[in-house]
Amino acid sequence: MEALLTRYLDPVAPLNLVAYQATGGYRGLTAAFDLKPEKIIDIVEAANLRGRGGAGFPCGLKWRLRGADAPSPRYLICNLDESEPGTFKDRYLLYGSPHQIIEAIIVSAFALQVERAFIFVRGEYAKGGNALNQAIQEAETAGLLGTNIGGSGFNLQIEAHLSGGRYICGEETAQINAIEGRRPNPRPKIPRPSTHGLWGQPTTSNNVETLINVPHILLNGADWFRDLGVNGGCGSKLFCVSGKVQHPGLFELPCGTPARELIFEYAGGLDEGRTLLGFLPGGASTAFLLPEHLDVPMDFDPMAEAGSRLGTGSIIVLDDATCPVKVTLNLMRFFARESCGFCTPCRDGLPYLVQILTSISSGEGQADDLELLDELSTTIASQSFCAFAPGAVMPLVSSLKCFHEHYEHHVTAGHCRFDKTVKDKT
Ligand code: NAD
Repeated sequence: MEALLTRYLDPVAPLNLVAYQATGGYRGLTAAFDLKPEKIIDIVEAANLRGRGGAGFPCGLKWRLRGADAPSPRYLICNLDESEPGTFKDRYLLYGSPHQIIEAIIVSAFALQVERAFIFVRGEYAKGGNALNQAIQEAETAGLLGTNIGGSGFNLQIEAHLSGGRYICGEETAQINAIEGRRPNPRPKIPRPSTHGLWGQPTTSNNVETLINVPHILLNGADWFRDLGVNGGCGSKLFCVSGKVQHPGLFELPCGTPARELIFEYAGGLDEGRTLLGFLPGGASTAFLLPEHLDVPMDFDPMAEAGSRLGTGSIIVLDDATCPVKVTLNLMRFFARESCGFCTPCRDGLPYLVQILTSISSGEGQADDLELLDELSTTIASQSFCAFAPGAVMPLVSSLKCFHEHYEHHVTAGHCRFDKTVKDKT
């Protein structure tokens, strides 16, 4: 598949407005202004563009459910707070082509008839945030933002908001609190932001990768977009591959491409003599899959059927020389640190899991610790306030299942299989 979203990315010297327009940039905006806002939503719905932030909720349906008669002011948030371990696709878009993001937001805001949009940028992407601000200024000067854009009668103001730098700020309701200047704890899921979002007003939140597809869909049509995918997937997808592969990186491929192709063709396969132990298909807050899952299409429904989720489409590879207990401990340390602390099961439960895993990892674990980890994970996931803890325990619960013999070995032998310097407990 020819690169679509990544074709003109240049992270060293991103295209300025004139150069972006020379590549065909802002043609999607012209196409949008030729259509009625409801028609744009129809087209996006027909394209089956599913949310690229991780959950895969259909974008067109989200826009339709917001309702054309939602009271003003209404807002659009472009979520660029990617913080999922192993995920670096949105960073490429930000650093590589800020005008692509701005065009997508103008088009989407027009479809939603929103006059104020925010781009919520991950705190660590501060330099990219500066480039984005520069591009916003360029677009304002050129009359692509502001009042009566291109004589269309449509007005839009875009503000880039740099995150304070926590994982939870990527959750849409925590993000709304952050933009309002509040502590970024998640809000209850209901009422949804589509009716009660920023300052209590209708708010639509979409991941940046989702939005940048929209101008292309308008230019080429819903059928064209659907046909870009393979194995039942729709559109192109940005995949990240990292971990024990020879060429980790970002790959734009048809949605539905199997992990086997990504790992062994595009990412260069494993090191000489190594075999695949398992992989996380969609960043850290997904379930581990095994070599037998290599041919499952990297798409939302097939991944759910396989017992995991597509998440951000970011594969993290473990080879047979990698200790899955240590990898899991590393991830759990991350999640325990990033808990917002609002609810007790998550705030106190995740560090407790880390404590138990640490003792297993260092060979001090007890036989019943494995069952305890499993039970505690279920309790924490079911009793916590938001989706953070259920996501956080996914790699742990699946790791216990997929790599049980490694945990057993840590407990019974008192050390890691790969650690030759420690004597057996027995
Ligand atoms: P979710 O399924 O609750 O919601 C997804 C989106 O759909 C939200 O915008 C929500 O408002 C909307 N939605 C859901 N049901 C709706 C309805 N009935 N009507 C209208 N809108 C509706 O998922 P979530 O908790 O927002 O996100 C979880 C996902 O985030 C996970 O799959 C995970 O992979 C991903 N994630 C991504 C990152 C990252 O860095 N990109 C970080 C952490 C988690």
